Amino acid sequence: MLRMIPSARQLIDGEWISARNKGELAVVDPATQEPIQTVARAEAVDVEDAVAAARRAFPEWAATSPTERGRVLRRWADLVLSSLDELAAIEARDVGKPLSGGRANVLRAHAIIEYNAGAADKLTGVTLPARTPDYLGYTVPEPYGVCAAILPWNVPSVLTAANVAPALAAGNTVVLKPSEVAPLAPLALAELARRAGFPPGVFNVVVGLGPEAGAALTGHRDVKHVSFVGSTATGRAIMASAARNLTPVKLELGGKSPNVLFADADLDVALPAIVGSITENAGQNCYAGSRLVVEDSIHDEVVERVAAAMQAVRLGAWDADLDMGPLVSAAQYDRVRGFLDQPGARLVTGGAPTGEGWFVQPTVYDQVDSSMRIAREEVFGPVLAVQKFTGTDRALQLMNDVDFGLLACIWTNDISRALRLAKGVHSGQVAVNQFHNTGVIGFPFNMQKDSGFSRGGGYAALREYTQEKAVSVRLLEH
Ligand code: NAD
Repeated sequence: MLRMIPSARQLIDGEWISARNKGELAVVDPATQEPIQTVARAEAVDVEDAVAAARRAFPEWAATSPTERGRVLRRWADLVLSSLDELAAIEARDVGKPLSGGRANVLRAHAIIEYNAGAADKLTGVTLPARTPDYLGYTVPEPYGVCAAILPWNVPSVLTAANVAPALAAGNTVVLKPSEVAPLAPLALAELARRAGFPPGVFNVVVGLGPEAGAALTGHRDVKHVSFVGSTATGRAIMASAARNLTPVKLELGGKSPNVLFADADLDVALPAIVGSITENAGQNCYAGSRLVVEDSIHDEVVERVAAAMQAVRLGAWDADLDMGPLVSAAQYDRVRGFLDQPGARLVTGGAPTGEGWFVQPTVYDQVDSSMRIAREEVFGPVLAVQKFTGTDRALQLMNDVDFGLLACIWTNDISRALRLAKGVHSGQVAVNQFHNTGVIGFPFNMQKDSGFSRGGGYAALREYTQEKAVSVRLLEH
């Protein structure tokens, strides 16, 4: 399964090499806690090497025609698709998610790389209107140079594709630091990129701890753009570190997303999606539907049906390919257990660890008040908080009564009400009668409030990885 990734190595300048200080990190299977693989433990010296390689590779890659860059990305996408089974197993085992979840993630990663392959030569500036015919003005999008990407462990293949492919398509070079908790899919994707023909140094991967390798990247003078995906607390630290060099940052942070359910919604469609939204990846998704805001007239029926569906969720290791796996690590397990005692709220189902290892039962709390931790803080586990409302205005108030603003899902058959809520909600993304976005290509992965300020996804992501030069010319007569 891991033949793509050499043991105890990192990928710098097209070569799989050990860490300079020979440090290693063990990667474990969250279901069994058995070691899967060791990877090189990058420190500041390794980051130095990776940034230097990316800096050397930048002028030639930036000068490569956008069409040719797109061709290399296309070859990368093809290799990802032809390695689907192996990559899906790596992603699933490393994070502890069911194999079908790993497969879905790799297909998503493939779609993102494919999109950027096609977009590479569509990136253009604009011609500006002139006051008189004697002037010409235009803008040129230009790559930044060395871009750093610092990523979390929950959907490593998708996030690698989303934060690396548009940067490369736009002519930047990249140093990626995946999470030390689940770095294997990013390393495998980087190996496939190497085989696809990206020149040495264009795409480098260092795996290390946040305060060591991550901090060395964000504070590096030669890093010209930082993409960070992770917790809001780390996002604040990264923005502060990048500020020293005035390095632009893109932050995709935590969430506390509501599913808002009206009595006129199709419950047979809505309820399975709502349960899936908090059990997929054991609730460890930034967009997880961790709040259910339900109209009072259907509250009792909905809570009963959701609880029954949560009890029916089958837990197992990645290769059993059931509905839900364990949490990713001991630290995550402790964190989620810290939310499993909610004074004042009514525990409907779950609320306890289960079996061996880091498994936690799908959990529902009802009668949750907006002031409670479980209503406000990101749990990042399979824990659902239910709140009841009467009237559309109250629904909107509850939707907006958190610091996060990632995704809001509205379930109703009343189109005016759906659009009124979509307009009023403080959220980067809105979904109507579906959980998240399932059908729109290149959907922007936007964030508001403490969820960050990304404009990632689709064509906007390509723009994110360019700076704009404005040129004005006076057309002299000779
Ligand atoms: P985290 O913030 O602990 O770590 C994320 C990454 O930052 C890791 O690679 C880590 O090593 C690195 N890091 C930690 N401290 C650092 C520092 N001081 N300097 C530089 N790098 C540092 O997050 P996590 O536990 O890996 O992931 C879970 C979080 O990610 C959740 O909050 C979730 O909502 C968020 N997330 C957000 C999105 C999104 O698109 N908004 C997507 C997925 C996950």
